Amino acid sequence: MSLPLLLLRSLYLTELQQLCQNQAIPRFRAGQIYTWVQVKGVADWEEMSNVPLAIREKLSQVVEFAPVQILRSQTSRRDGTRKYLFELADQQTVETVLMLYDRAKARDRATVCVSTQVGCAMKCAFCATGLTGLVRNLAAGEIVGQVLDVQRVMRREDTDAGITNVVFMGMGEPLQNYANLSRAINLLNSTQGQNIGMRRMTVSTCGVVPRIIDLARDFPQITLAISLHAPRDAVRDRLVPINRHYPLQELMTACRKYIEITNKRITFEYALIKGVNSSAQDARDLSALLGNLQCHLNLIPVNSVQETGLTRPAAAETKEFVRILTAAGMEVTLREEKGTDIDAACGQLRKRQDGEG
Ligand code: SF4
Repeated sequence: MSLPLLLLRSLYLTELQQLCQNQAIPRFRAGQIYTWVQVKGVADWEEMSNVPLAIREKLSQVVEFAPVQILRSQTSRRDGTRKYLFELADQQTVETVLMLYDRAKARDRATVCVSTQVGCAMKCAFCATGLTGLVRNLAAGEIVGQVLDVQRVMRREDTDAGITNVVFMGMGEPLQNYANLSRAINLLNSTQGQNIGMRRMTVSTCGVVPRIIDLARDFPQITLAISLHAPRDAVRDRLVPINRHYPLQELMTACRKYIEITNKRITFEYALIKGVNSSAQDARDLSALLGNLQCHLNLIPVNSVQETGLTRPAAAETKEFVRILTAAGMEVTLREEKGTDIDAACGQLRKRQDGEG
C-alpha cells in the first residue's frame, strides 16, 4: 500500500486553512480541526464533534489521517519506562519509548523518544534497528503521531500528566529524514498545537555532517546529541560505519561550527564496549578529542542485543574510564539506563511484530 499524499497530522495550520479555502470551507474550521488533531490528538474524523459531518466528509476525500496505532505496550518493572509498538497505515511497525523522571518531585518530566524511520540504513554495530536495514522514512504526521498517541494514553490514565520533552532518538537516523523531521519539530513546537519548546527537544545523529550545520541554522535552540562511541577512526569505522564517509576530523569541524552558530553545548553519547573502546588509552584519546569543545559526555555501558555479541566492561574498568575523563576536566555522566528489562534502551529498539522477540 502506498501512503496517501496528504496526511492530516503532517499539515501546518496555514496549510489546513488553505485546504479549507480550496474546498470552500470557512477558514475557522481549519482552526477547529487543527486543535482536534494537534492538541487533542484525535485519530478519527468521527471524534471532531463540533465539525459538521458534511465538512468532515468533504475533507476526508483529499486528506487522510493515516493514524499510527498502538499494537502493544510494555512497562518496565524496574523504572516504569514504557515501550509502545506502533503499527503504521502500511502495516510497518516502529517503537516509541516513554521515560518518566522524578514523577513524585517538582521536576516532573515525561520524555518521549520517537522513531523517525522504519529500520535504519546506518548499520551501527551495537544497534538492533540497524540489523534490518532501512525500510522507509516516516512522514512528519507519523512522527508527531507517536507523541500525540502516547500523550492521549497518559491523559486517559492520569489527568495531570503530559509530555514535556521529545527526543528524536528512536529507530532511524533523524538527519537522514531531514525534511519530515523539520516539519515534525515545527508541528510539535506550534503554539496552537502541543507547544513543546525547542529547548525541550533533542535530535540525535550518528554523524551526518552536512545536516548538522543545517540543524544549527534551522533550529539553533534544539539540543544536538552525537553518537560518538569511539575516539579514533579505525574503531569508529567499525562501530559507526558512516564514519567512513564523514571521519572524525570532519565531524569535529562540524561540531565546532555548530557551537559557533548556536552557542550551545553538544551532548556526546558513548556506548562503553568491553575490549573495543573502554580502555584507559581510549579515555585519554577521548579527552584529547573533545577536551576543547563545549560539550557533555554521556557514557552508556552497552546494552545487550543478542545478535551483536557485544558486552559491557567490568565496573572497575568503567570507573577508571570515568575517572580519567573527569580528571581531564570533562563533564561526564554515567547514564542511568531506562527500560533495559523490556529492550527499550538505546540500541535495543527494532521493527518487531506481535509474537516476536
Ligand atoms: S544507532 Fe541509530 S543511526 Fe545507528 S543503526 Fe541504530 S538507529 Fe540507525
